[in-house]
Amino acid sequence: MSVQILPLPVPEPNADSRAYWAAAAERRLVVRQCRACGQRHFMPRGQCPACWSDELEWIECSGAGTVYSLSVVHRAPTPDFAGIAPYVIALVDLAEGPRMFANLVGPGALEAAIGDRVQLSFERRGESAVVPQFMRVQP
Ligand SMILES: [Zn+2]
Repeated sequence: MSVQILPLPVPEPNADSRAYWAAAAERRLVVRQCRACGQRHFMPRGQCPACWSDELEWIECSGAGTVYSLSVVHRAPTPDFAGIAPYVIALVDLAEGPRMFANLVGPGALEAAIGDRVQLSFERRGESAVVPQFMRVQP
């Protein structure tokens, strides 16, 4: 029996996330920082979630992070993901502050644990989309 691996969904940028996805396509991870209160946040939004200011800027992240929480997905939520299950979804605390939702990929991803150090990597999807993901930093 052969398994057909379907292409994974590609991002659909909106007005708030367009610059985020454009940076990802250049293999850069950016997050929003509020000019009024200094708060940094993820996902990209048009207003600061701390003070509602719309005076926001983009800052580039180092790609270093720590696993805050994770889950191993054994049953794909849609047929698109059946080809990669089991896989890991995680909340990653970026060195710059924001907590980010992403997949853990690469060697040892399924054995990852809370507190593991991770490093940014990029996953190509479709014709030109690039999705920031994370890989474990091996001790
Ligand atoms: Zn703010």
